[in-house]
Amino acid sequence: MNSETTNSGLAAVRAEIARACREAGREPSAVTLVAVSKTFPAEAIEPVIAAGQRVFGENRVQEAAGKWPVLAANHVGIELHMIGPLQSNKAKEAVALFHAIHSVDRPSLCEALAKEISRQGRQPLLFVEINTGAEAQKAGVLPQDADGFLARCRDSYGLTIGGLMCIPPADEAPSPHFALTAKIAARNGLMQLSMGMSADYVAAIAMGATHVRIGSAIFGARDHR
Ligand SMILES: *Cc1c(COP(=O)(O)O)cnc(C)c1O
Repeated sequence: MNSETTNSGLAAVRAEIARACREAGREPSAVTLVAVSKTFPAEAIEPVIAAGQRVFGENRVQEAAGKWPVLAANHVGIELHMIGPLQSNKAKEAVALFHAIHSVDRPSLCEALAKEISRQGRQPLLFVEINTGAEAQKAGVLPQDADGFLARCRDSYGLTIGGLMCIPPADEAPSPHFALTAKIAARNGLMQLSMGMSADYVAAIAMGATHVRIGSAIFGARDHR
């Protein structure tokens, strides 16, 4: 993929986000574009940074730790978001590396994150992932367990949760899943909603998404993941 293609992808996504916001009566500044750069090397990311993008998403700690420190040192204002499943034993590295973590989903991870947040004096924006489709293979808290889990995050671990994240089942209309996630967030007083990927971010913005995680529409098709 050449940089021209990459930049046109970014421009198209930005225009589409602005259009979706207008249609929903929302300010475009209320939606953060997280450009998902997983599997792509620094050479593919550089043109996207050059086009002004600063917020990026990765789904593996090791991969992010390998390519982002150099990129972040060379460009002002880079913000990294962890969007993939996180193992508790990677919490230390994740808190050091990421400005936001979208995949908080179990007590052992809460405990590990709380310890590192206090030890490192850093405060990443935290999202609890909701498994809205109750899919066995997918991470996330079941919708019926969400209120209890959020209370536990706060009361047992002292974590400040900023919002919720979801990944709708691949074979279903996404909007009901976005609506359910928004409803759980609203009744728990949470302002941030991480929802919407390349195929469904317009629908997610209509349902109140504050963070859209977009990979292939910007970087092109991936071989995997
Ligand atoms: C890969 C990934 C994305 C981006 O997916 P695209 O369809 O390429 O936009 C978004 N969110 C998560 C959690 C991902 O793993």
